[in-house]
Amino acid sequence: MIYLDNNATTQVDKEVLKVMLPFLEEEYANPSSMYDFAKKPSVALKIAREQVRDFYGAEDVKEVFFTSCGSESANMAIKGALNCNKNKKHIITTKVEHPCVLNTYKSFENEGYKVDYISVSSDGQLNIDELKEKITKNTALVSVMWANNETGVINPVEEIAEIVKSKSPETVFFVDGVQAAGKIPMSVKDTQIDMVGISGHKFHAPKGVGALYVNKSCRLTPLINGGHQERGLRAGTENVPYIAGIGKAAELAKSALPYENSEIKRLRDKLENGILKNVFNARLNSPLINRVPNTTNIGFEYVEGELILLHLSDLGICASSGSACTSGSLEPSHVLRAMGIPFTALHGSIRFSLSRYTKESDIDFVIEKMPSIMDKLTKISPFQDELMKLKNLRR
Ligand code: PLP
Repeated sequence: MIYLDNNATTQVDKEVLKVMLPFLEEEYANPSSMYDFAKKPSVALKIAREQVRDFYGAEDVKEVFFTSCGSESANMAIKGALNCNKNKKHIITTKVEHPCVLNTYKSFENEGYKVDYISVSSDGQLNIDELKEKITKNTALVSVMWANNETGVINPVEEIAEIVKSKSPETVFFVDGVQAAGKIPMSVKDTQIDMVGISGHKFHAPKGVGALYVNKSCRLTPLINGGHQERGLRAGTENVPYIAGIGKAAELAKSALPYENSEIKRLRDKLENGILKNVFNARLNSPLINRVPNTTNIGFEYVEGELILLHLSDLGICASSGSACTSGSLEPSHVLRAMGIPFTALHGSIRFSLSRYTKESDIDFVIEKMPSIMDKLTKISPFQDELMKLKNLRR
């Protein structure tokens, strides 16, 4: 099996599992209990919070809150901040956010909020001037993802935070950091970013655990009411094994960043160049600059993405068309549509996303197999004349 769908989810690191196992077996005490038996779980929480604080480059462990996933982190940030600022009814976000953000804003639109969706250029770069123009003193919240899940585009969130605060100091700035985590350095130190959400299963922790960084000065109401856990902002007995896991995964991801940005990037570039060179109907949807090192999005003109995925799957290759949350539908990706990717490539766009487990032989195999898959699929495409023209053009 060749797994090139690491933006959907990742393999749990063995070291992460090792840290988790005692808390699934013998060390099962509730970390809030007073007896000695609760000490190890309680210490595990402290260690993990420190590891995640360090990962965020945050000043204080009190700024780290554990959640169940990236979607919860986004909901906690957005709903929590808007609830604290009910007199302002304006939100700014981008057209290319993850559904966990876009659908949350849809629910606020239904409650009378005005939401501005900022456009991106044909290579996915955010229109920062447009964003700047939209900010007013009535803007309650701005949210921009750190890196895009489909194309890998990196947004300059540190710079955007400065723009937001200089135009409206009270506006809260939330960053969905789920796809940046473990791929690029993401320190909130010396920035004006208020909140950043991450999700453990995108960087080799298990599914079911995430985190939210909340700057000390930022006020939130809880999404889940109940006990005193997570300083009253996220009630519920802490998921000790998984929190210990995300802590360890954050530590490992931070130390693997140099490898991510050299070796993984090299393999990604090799895959991308190999496909673009050998497949005449392939075009790069991702930009060449400002991109996380593990992701490439390639459009195959005049063929169906689902058919490509099935042929890849027959060879044991896992890739994806769009985000995991939308890939069940036949709707073309909202991200690629926002970039104005031509309809000829929109339906046949495939995302390959690598990880530190990706081997050179995996990449060589995909480069070798892609031309014959495309040979089969272009033959059954209803667009024979267009394909012939394209072939002559690229020859
Ligand atoms: N944000 C982005 C950019 C994502 O890619 C994802 C998942 O793919 C999420 C948020 C949601 O994360 P989770 O699946 O942990 O809820």
